[in-house]
Amino acid sequence: MHPASRVKCRMVRMSGRTGRIAAGLSPLFLVAAIGAGSGGAGATGGHTIRPDALIYFFDQIALRQQEPPPGVRPKWVRRWNGPVAVTLSGEIPAGFGARLDRSLADISRWTGQRFARAAGAAKAPRRKRISIRIVPHAAMLQRYGPGGHVCTAATFGWNGRLHTARIEISDRYTDCLDHELMHALGFDGHWLASNRDNAIRSVLARRDTPARRLRFTRFDTIAIRTLYHQTLAPGMARENALAQARRILKSPPRL
Ligand SMILES: [Zn+2]
Repeated sequence: MHPASRVKCRMVRMSGRTGRIAAGLSPLFLVAAIGAGSGGAGATGGHTIRPDALIYFFDQIALRQQEPPPGVRPKWVRRWNGPVAVTLSGEIPAGFGARLDRSLADISRWTGQRFARAAGAAKAPRRKRISIRIVPHAAMLQRYGPGGHVCTAATFGWNGRLHTARIEISDRYTDCLDHELMHALGFDGHWLASNRDNAIRSVLARRDTPARRLRFTRFDTIAIRTLYHQTLAPGMARENALAQARRILKSPPRL
């Protein structure tokens, strides 16, 4: 079996660790584009995406807490209050740093918060930090076995406010990057596309499914903008967050 066909991310968890989170400015209002369409459903490649399909997608990846154990972790909004420093360590493949920088620039634009690489790991703050480590594939095999995890992401925070994330990426599967970054942003779930919603593509779809993409899709962009919209807040309960998302996505852009 192809080892990546069974890739799963390690459970993303919200720890009960205490720690003062510095108060910051509210996220900038950057989601105008979401509501700026002329109304009606979005369309892509001849497919029509209804707002309720977008809501279902957002709910699955941001709020449902699909990973076991079920019901243990709260269904609420998890997100950063930046700026967030990103460090990169390990044997870094050629071009990977530049690719990371492009993804961080996109994320900064969509969230209204600064996500950028720190000059050096030693100087980076311990909090408000995403650490990315490139791991030799042999080490991943040793740890998780054949067919096991090839990339992992774990987030830590308090009351929905993320303060640390750790990403590990096998040097053989560096195309995990955007998938793991999305976990780090606060999306704990995966996109388990059903027939009803099969026009929605995402980096968070399972690697062995047709919905999987390696680079952020427009649907991922919408989900990120929605999670970081000014009307949502860290720790907001799922039902409240869904109500806000319905307002935001009432007139989704044409895709
Ligand atoms: Zn994952």
